[in-house]
Amino acid sequence: MGNWEENVRKVVPYVPGEQPKAKNVIKLNTNENPYPPSPKVLECLKEQDFYGTLRKYPDPTIGSLTEAISGSYGVPADQIFVGVGSDDVLAMSFLAFFNSKKPILFADITYSFYDVWAEEFKIPYETVPLKEDFSLDLEGFKKDNGGIVIANPNAPTGALVETRFLEDIIKNNTDSVVIIDEAYVDFGGESALPLIEKYENLLVVQTFSKSRSMAGSRIGFAFGSKKLIKYLQDVKYSFNSYTIDAVTMALGCASMEDEAYFKECCDRIVETREWSKKELIKRGFNFCDSKTNFIFASHKSVPAKEIFEALKKENIYVRYFPKPRIDNYLRITIGTREEMERLFAFLDEFLRGRNA
Ligand code: PMP
Repeated sequence: MGNWEENVRKVVPYVPGEQPKAKNVIKLNTNENPYPPSPKVLECLKEQDFYGTLRKYPDPTIGSLTEAISGSYGVPADQIFVGVGSDDVLAMSFLAFFNSKKPILFADITYSFYDVWAEEFKIPYETVPLKEDFSLDLEGFKKDNGGIVIANPNAPTGALVETRFLEDIIKNNTDSVVIIDEAYVDFGGESALPLIEKYENLLVVQTFSKSRSMAGSRIGFAFGSKKLIKYLQDVKYSFNSYTIDAVTMALGCASMEDEAYFKECCDRIVETREWSKKELIKRGFNFCDSKTNFIFASHKSVPAKEIFEALKKENIYVRYFPKPRIDNYLRITIGTREEMERLFAFLDEFLRGRNA
């Protein structure tokens, strides 16, 4: 055998959360929405003749869905990019915008796909450590760079930074692209979207996966200046023209049209989250304030790994990251009120057994 493996692009992949097969699982490990998508999505599935569309390629411009997003957010269609989940949008953005020899900057504790893409695309990067309380070190982002990525609210911490502080970073950073990843912004955050009118180099990325209950459809989208979006489209068309299939496109439009349902689901999750915070405190957990659909919590005396394993035995799945600085934390997705009650009932029993 020759040396063919020497020239293979070797990557350490991102590890997604577990998708257990068992039926009676309480699944609080991948920040999915516990409520189903809008009933309009179901109507669309029943009424449209999808079979008839499969013979043809889907619309490469993703026109109808882009228009639906445009109508909802009041942003012109040529300032919107749609991709296969925000993972796809972010990956394309890394490829398109981070082509400098200078390092890109992101927090040390943030979405763990950023360093995977940087490694994969050979983009130099530096991490900016979060402060001790897991807040963003805003000053740390004010240095020469090849690009900036900030998840706001951040994951897995749940912490939100006010837009005026982000604007301060963007204003001082006109020589590279700034990406704000707003996967969780609909659960009480303030979007940086209005800033795209002021800063040509700002990309704001959102998703249907969390607040719109459509993780399974894989739809993500981004807002930016016309110029920025055109660069992103060029990279997409150089990679795969047909990213969103006709079924997903129609379902995405149906979802986007149901603003009332979307708001109602977000409100319910926020209400359950605020109640869950109080319940966690009662049981000896602490966490930084979350504006997302999850809480990143640490127990005062019982190691997170032990709680994680005990919960898993009970078919209650939460997320645990065995990584520096965060290996004593559990990321708990906000489920329905009933699911959270079952979680707390088990925690009571378990912590009593540990005299904690
Ligand atoms: N950004 C952040 C911060 C996330 O937590 C996630 C979810 N894993 C994503 C982006 C990607 O979500 P999706 O591809 O489902 O839109």
